Amino acid sequence: MKQIKNYINGQFLNPSSNNWIDNYCPADGKVYGQTPNSSKADVENAYIAAKSAFPSWSQTTLEERSRILIRISELLEVHLQRFAEVESKDTGKPISLAKAVDIPRAASNFRFFGNAITQFASESHESIGHDAINYTLRQPIGVVGCISPWNLPLYLFTWKIAPAIAAGNCVIAKPSEVTPMTAYLFGEICSEAGLPKGVLNIIHGLGSTTGQAIIEHPDIKAISFTGGTETGAHIAKVAAPMFKKLSLELGGKNPNIIFADCNYNDMLETTVRSSFANQGQICLCGSRIFVEASIYEKFKTDFVEKTKQLKVGHPSKKDTDIGALVSKSHLEKVMQYIGIAKEENGTILCGGNKVTVTGHQDGYYLEPTVIEVTTDACRVNQEEIFGPIVTIMPFNTEDDVLQMANKVKYGLSATLWTNSLKRTMSMSNQLQSGIVWVNTWMLRDLRTPFGGIKASGVGREGGFEALRFFTEAKNVCIKY
Ligand code: NAD
Repeated sequence: MKQIKNYINGQFLNPSSNNWIDNYCPADGKVYGQTPNSSKADVENAYIAAKSAFPSWSQTTLEERSRILIRISELLEVHLQRFAEVESKDTGKPISLAKAVDIPRAASNFRFFGNAITQFASESHESIGHDAINYTLRQPIGVVGCISPWNLPLYLFTWKIAPAIAAGNCVIAKPSEVTPMTAYLFGEICSEAGLPKGVLNIIHGLGSTTGQAIIEHPDIKAISFTGGTETGAHIAKVAAPMFKKLSLELGGKNPNIIFADCNYNDMLETTVRSSFANQGQICLCGSRIFVEASIYEKFKTDFVEKTKQLKVGHPSKKDTDIGALVSKSHLEKVMQYIGIAKEENGTILCGGNKVTVTGHQDGYYLEPTVIEVTTDACRVNQEEIFGPIVTIMPFNTEDDVLQMANKVKYGLSATLWTNSLKRTMSMSNQLQSGIVWVNTWMLRDLRTPFGGIKASGVGREGGFEALRFFTEAKNVCIKY
């Protein structure tokens, strides 16, 4: 059975405690590998490697950093097929999705920040009348921690690491213990691309052991975290008193608001995707669908019909739209909400059942599920489910839907379907979320700020925002 290793100081190492976690393949529910459950001692080794790499890496020219980052991106493209297959096996997502989205995006993250660092400039301010000039240095922080979740494993892992190392930091990165495989392979790519040893150290293990050791480490000065809201709150509690810089990208319960004046066919097609892509396990999925009353019945019929056409199947099959959920415990959690919906008098319009895929009886498959709710206050409409389940309900006025859209604890993204410019502007201003998509979904320009408000997080990733996060501003004032 394949045992993966930590990547510390450019070497692949077993965990010092010889402690391992089983790694499951969600498509057939079988253990297919083992992952280190790294201890404090392993994190310390990674820290020592990162610390000793820092003086040289932080002084490496931007051109050289850029060259290495872009080389990493190219190598990911060369190995696209292999990475896509591994990502699919580890997560249960269709290979076609990993090949079209996850791995290309991981490559884009490195290419983007490889280019962005060459354009990152600091400011200067002339203090007129005081005979002084100020300039602001943007210095790397030192050793930083990057912790990522299981839903888009390599995509989100690289989204943090690329800006961190581009800005001159050295990194201790922990992927989710549920989906560690592509992060493990990524170490090989970094070595091949000539990333100096110790600049990136990849440590595997449980959140409560390895993750905890990273956030508690007194000399890891910044933590960039993506994951659940509860974990984010815990990390803030541990890290804030140590004055670490924190970027927290957390959960969501995003509204998808559909007005009668939208381009109906585009909306319908995109809404199927924004509901069920990656088995609904994307923090940006629009899991609360609000439809203007005049087109509600038509939408309901069409949407349910399209949802029923989605093929649940083995991730390796070309015609699979929906693969397996990531783990048994996650499948059970998601399914609990189907029971809760029934208790709350929701109507299951389609789905709601586990699927048995021939030859893979123990896989974690679930039908895409549409639940009609009568009130936005019910639990299925308020709590993050993070699976292939959406709610739908009608609304009458802009004010009503705005109120419902904003009446959740989260505020990550919102999608709006309308051809009215006035409504677009006024609703976009008032929606409580970090991102608003109008007449589209998941269109990503990597220069834009990415992140949420309320319980969806603190701080922004993306573009120069990320490079600012991973640097300390130091102002120098010179009187002449
Ligand atoms: P999670 O919070 O359980 O785990 C995320 C990561 O944190 C994992 O690597 C885990 O090992 C680690 N971790 C757990 N406890 C820790 C601790 N005490 N100290 C340090 N690290 C710890 O989340 P998950 O179940 O892997 O991911 C799903 C969640 O992620 C959902 O809530 C989803 O909305 C959210 N998410 C948010 C975004 C975003 O950009 N806002 C993107 C993707 C996923």
